[in-house]
Amino acid sequence: MNWATCLCRGKYSVTSSKKAKLAVWKFASCDGCQLSILDCEEQLLDIAGAVQIANFAEATRAVIKGPYDISLVEGSITTPHDAERIHKIRRNSKYLIVIGACATAGGIQSLRNFADVREYTSLIYAHPEYIESLGKSTPIADHVYVDFELRGCPINKYQLLEVLSAKLAGRKPCIPTYSVCVECKRKGNVCVMVALGVPCLGPVTQAGCGALCPSYQRGCFACFGPKETPNAESLASKLEKSGQTRQEIVRAFRGFNAFAESFRKQSEAYER
Ligand code: SF4
Ligand code: SF4
Ligand code: SF4
Repeated sequence: MNWATCLCRGKYSVTSSKKAKLAVWKFASCDGCQLSILDCEEQLLDIAGAVQIANFAEATRAVIKGPYDISLVEGSITTPHDAERIHKIRRNSKYLIVIGACATAGGIQSLRNFADVREYTSLIYAHPEYIESLGKSTPIADHVYVDFELRGCPINKYQLLEVLSAKLAGRKPCIPTYSVCVECKRKGNVCVMVALGVPCLGPVTQAGCGALCPSYQRGCFACFGPKETPNAESLASKLEKSGQTRQEIVRAFRGFNAFAESFRKQSEAYER
């Protein structure tokens, strides 16, 4: 997607008085996905020209009141305050896009969903009674209606530009829902699982990274989350047959997208 070309060809017909108001919101997260927006570098001026940045704490202290045409939400819901705030943001946003593994699946912090969070806080904090934390870290879609989910940890900046430009142009975003294996084969990579016996979650993971890890002879650890209709059960069985222990299979599915339903089910099945 060439963002600048799209703007130059006047596909958006955006005038300064009619610019879409864009807001960026943070919940429990590492800010990495927001940094991907700033990492757009040369495209940032085009973004600023096409939208009015109304709320983006990572970039500016200026805040323009809602309602907002587009909201980008990073992070998962982990506190009672988060659970209230996301409803307020939803009410104030016409189109809500969630970005990254934290917002789409609960993130790495959802590993606590498999344990007792009160036990964790009592081990870490001198005064755990001051910690207001929900028992689980959950994705945004568990709380409010979400218009689009963009995967990745962090997200791919070109995919973000595609989603934003599609919204501004009034068309459907062109984001693949097939697996990392498709990208991997297109690149002509030798399969690390077949040739080297390295465990790889590429068959069940959504494309978007350009098969980065297998391109360097590493297995995929699924940071883009489950692809559409993943057969995680079949992959887990294949991993077991190739010599992975049950504990290693649990760990393989408990990464950045541990609480995504298909991955969660497999890790729980192999934990028993
Ligand atoms: S998805 Fe990954 S990069 Fe994005 S905020 Fe969460 S931990 Fe950070
Ligand atoms: S290396 Fe991984 S992503 Fe590439 S084809 Fe093999 S299983 Fe799929
Ligand atoms: S290959 Fe897998 S783990 Fe590596 S960047 Fe891509 S999705 Fe993430």
